[in-house]
Amino acid sequence: MPALARLNERCSRTFMTQKLRGQSPLLHKLCLFVLALCLALPAHAEGFITRLLNKPVPGGVAVIDLGNPAQAPKVRYQGKPVLTVHEDSKRWIAIVGIPLSVKPGTQQIEVEGGQKLSFQVGAKHYTEQRITIKNQQQVTPNAANLKRIERELAEQTRAYQQFSARQPSNLMFDRPVNGPLSSPFGLRRFFNGEERNPHSGLDFAANRGTPIKAPAAGKVILIGDYFFNGKTVFLDHGQGLISMFCHLSEIDVKLGDEIARGGHVGKVGATGRATGPHLHWNVSLNDARVDPAIFIGAFKP
Ligand SMILES: [Zn+2]
Repeated sequence: MPALARLNERCSRTFMTQKLRGQSPLLHKLCLFVLALCLALPAHAEGFITRLLNKPVPGGVAVIDLGNPAQAPKVRYQGKPVLTVHEDSKRWIAIVGIPLSVKPGTQQIEVEGGQKLSFQVGAKHYTEQRITIKNQQQVTPNAANLKRIERELAEQTRAYQQFSARQPSNLMFDRPVNGPLSSPFGLRRFFNGEERNPHSGLDFAANRGTPIKAPAAGKVILIGDYFFNGKTVFLDHGQGLISMFCHLSEIDVKLGDEIARGGHVGKVGATGRATGPHLHWNVSLNDARVDPAIFIGAFKP
């Protein structure tokens, strides 16, 4: 539902409730004021998806207006295909994942036909986290484990690079588990004092066995039991928008399964490199791991 229609509906509901109670409709006046403000905005004003997702920082998302051509424009960023969505039936938008490694400044997307569109990436400070791991192999793996890690990384990278034609069922994701957010995305991590890759996802504190639900509809494109990630499920939501859930105690889906929004995926655990039971959730767009908090309205600038 378009944002304006949603606001209208909320206003009329509030008004009706207040009329029934016989109270002064102060809130209704406020609603009318906001409504007037909305109507005063220019026709190209941002839609709901843009406002929700446009966080153009390293590890964030850039939403770029593509105008309103008859066909869905084909867009690439850093040579990789990009998710495009028709917003509010008014305009096409490109939803671009910005890798954590990108430096603040000007970036470009390429639209089929040769057009280049620029966007600005702002700065974001990510804090440090120091973790003690009992198993030193998980900090400085031996040659055999390094070989395994390399193989598993290649397999998971191939999954992130898949680009299916489907439209995501929803871009405002549901939380995959009930539980407070713990480690945020992008933390610079030091394991036993040694710096390793930054935190590629968002952690939820949850007990072992807590059910994990699909934040949007998706197809199971990879299942594994990995050195670092433990028991892992990849869900393809469409057009390069991919969720990864790891450290599971149990995987309850099979490769190729189509999972509905809210469908059961598995259970929270502590398999792989984990200090205790929690859910680690990655969200990837055009093969860039981005902050999942953006998609659940919990992004902190
Ligand atoms: Zn994590």
